Amino acid sequence: MIEDDDLYGFLHDSAALIGAPLVRVADGRTPWEVFEDKRLLGNSRLAPCSHALKIVPCRRWLAAHANPANTVLYIGIDSSKRDRNRAPGIQHGWRRWRVEFPLLDEPELSKADMLAEARSLGLTPPLAYDLGYDHANCGQLCVRGGKKHWLRTLRFFPDRFADYEAREQRFRDRSGKNVAILTERRAGETIPLPLAELRRVYESSL
Ligand code: SF4
Repeated sequence: MIEDDDLYGFLHDSAALIGAPLVRVADGRTPWEVFEDKRLLGNSRLAPCSHALKIVPCRRWLAAHANPANTVLYIGIDSSKRDRNRAPGIQHGWRRWRVEFPLLDEPELSKADMLAEARSLGLTPPLAYDLGYDHANCGQLCVRGGKKHWLRTLRFFPDRFADYEAREQRFRDRSGKNVAILTERRAGETIPLPLAELRRVYESSL
């Protein structure tokens, strides 16, 4: 597991609040172990970790335990344009079951609204939200996070950033390919942006 303890505490307390049993479904690998197994470095366009660690175990568990005749899947995407656009694809992908998106219902709640409501109910959201992250997944090391996310990790979790920076460099050296978790646009082209380069640019701007 790669997440912070406070995320698991939040899950536990939230489940207790609504009186539902909390079932943990896990593959057991970390995202990086998936990248190594598949020899494929995850990035914003291709995240094999998401498929291997979320979709596959979840689908397997549902197929074994959730009768489509009396099961509703509640998917926690929010009302931001980016998330809203994902709803039809999710609905189609899980069409064997009835799928609902309660956070898209009126009134539309922003992330801040939802966090405030959670706090008003006595819950303590993971620290990552206070630090400005969009989510608390994968120990603030999300390969889909983008530059701002990784700069935040460099600032607040320098050891974790350094660890991924070294892993990424080893992956690049071993594969002999110019691959990276991040990309950037330069002269109209999208090119890989290694974490070491992101650090260099950031530190030279201080
Ligand atoms: S949160 Fe990010 S790093 Fe974690 S599994 Fe999903 S895409 Fe991969």
